Amino acid sequence: MLQRGTSLNNYTFPPVLKAFSQLQAFREGGPAHSLVIKLGFDSDAFVQNALVHFYGVCERVDVAQQLFDEIVEPNVVAWTSLLSGYAKLGDLECARRVFDVMPEKNLVSWSAMISGYVQGGQFVEALRLFHEMQVLKICPSLPVLVSILIAIAEMGALQEGLWVHGFIERNGLGWAPNLRASLVHMYMKCGDVVSAWQAFDKMPDRGLDVWNAMIVGLGLHGQGEEALRIFLSMVTEGLQPDDITFIGVLCGCSHAGLVDKGLECFASMNTVYNVLPKVEHYSCVVDLLGRAGLIKEALEVIQSMPVEANGRVWGSLFGACRNHGYAELGEIVGKHLIKLEPHRAGRYVLLANIYASMDRWEDAIKVRELMKQNGVELEPGCSLIEVDGVVHEFLVGDRVHPQTSDIYRKLDEMVKLCRCKGYVPNTKHVLFDISEEEKEGALCWHSEKLAVAFALISTDLEAVIRVVKNLRICGDCHSMMKVVSKVYDREIVIRDRSRFHHFKQGRCSCMDYW
Ligand code: ZN
Ligand code: ZN
Repeated sequence: MLQRGTSLNNYTFPPVLKAFSQLQAFREGGPAHSLVIKLGFDSDAFVQNALVHFYGVCERVDVAQQLFDEIVEPNVVAWTSLLSGYAKLGDLECARRVFDVMPEKNLVSWSAMISGYVQGGQFVEALRLFHEMQVLKICPSLPVLVSILIAIAEMGALQEGLWVHGFIERNGLGWAPNLRASLVHMYMKCGDVVSAWQAFDKMPDRGLDVWNAMIVGLGLHGQGEEALRIFLSMVTEGLQPDDITFIGVLCGCSHAGLVDKGLECFASMNTVYNVLPKVEHYSCVVDLLGRAGLIKEALEVIQSMPVEANGRVWGSLFGACRNHGYAELGEIVGKHLIKLEPHRAGRYVLLANIYASMDRWEDAIKVRELMKQNGVELEPGCSLIEVDGVVHEFLVGDRVHPQTSDIYRKLDEMVKLCRCKGYVPNTKHVLFDISEEEKEGALCWHSEKLAVAFALISTDLEAVIRVVKNLRICGDCHSMMKVVSKVYDREIVIRDRSRFHHFKQGRCSCMDYW
């Protein structure tokens, strides 16, 4: 049109700007905006609304806000664009302010606000808003349901997840492929492998996303054999695996100690399935070998890999050195990692531990000092547990829960009973213990212990106790949970930063291999 000199009017720009928005083509959209001003359409309401949308999508919320302020009566699209613009930038307070004052909300506005909360890690807020939709009898859209299942998965709020599953079925909302995958993912992340299987088995046509959710989930639970089995049936059904599929399978093999099968699968990636291994896959292989104590082989993989090793790859080797007593190599790798990722607290802790294991206390203290100099702080340990549909949060040594005194009384009892059954609290090297978090004096009230104590006083005798922890579980909590599961005859499922631990009758599904 521009080349032919066709005259443009105010109807030309909204669709053009919409196209630029869809493409997130910020640079190409700029000249269109100039043209709008030149031709004098900048006071046309449709054009103004389209411009706000464009700048909101392109993450230029400052410009979007300026243009928005000039509109006399912004429409719901402009309001929502502004809201999404703030949400995308992670400014959830501003986004919420817009959400609260907008005169009319549509499904896109709700979805933008909820997904903003989920992306910003504010899962409780996301759920609260979702419940508000129910109160107002607004039927959630597909993106809302997907977002909310992600929030539930992250929090490990199984009751909530079961409710949403039922809600979708009751209301006949249908099962889009990504909703199916989100459902399987949610059950897996909530530690309920049985429900994940049930949902998976019932699904009539499963796309790659659904298979991947299943394989990755089984991997997280350390069910390597099952992950491999599902992988093979997926291939038999004619689906082409992608890089996520292989991350799932390799991670499963690694957690289950299936070294040969994992290596075989890795070798087949390129030769059989035409999937080029990425740095993530190399990281899985290093982890697979390292966990099994094959440190030399793991190092060889790093030295021969065609892509550059990142912090995750070196981190896998580092952890393996610590676990298998390769202190000298661990020291070299640890120093390298701290240079590579000076902001990661866990790296310093592990190096300090390696020094401590060699009785090089002065070096260990130096690492701690370096950590302070670099302004790096330990992330506080935090555990979530859902009881009667309410998610409770515990921090290490927490005393803010309304039932605090009952919880600590139960914890005392737990320790006493467990001691009788052979549990010895691991309080040696209090300063330099292998955990990623601080210990409080000689007795460590790590958050997962508090959460389990709370569960023991507030749930049915048969109920499985499910805890979500933000850091890796420490050795002391791990050995105590094993004994608790036997003494109290309760199944305990703990999801930590890297995998699931199913404690039952004195044993853990990880076979102490984590
Ligand atoms: Zn612990
Ligand atoms: Zn375990």
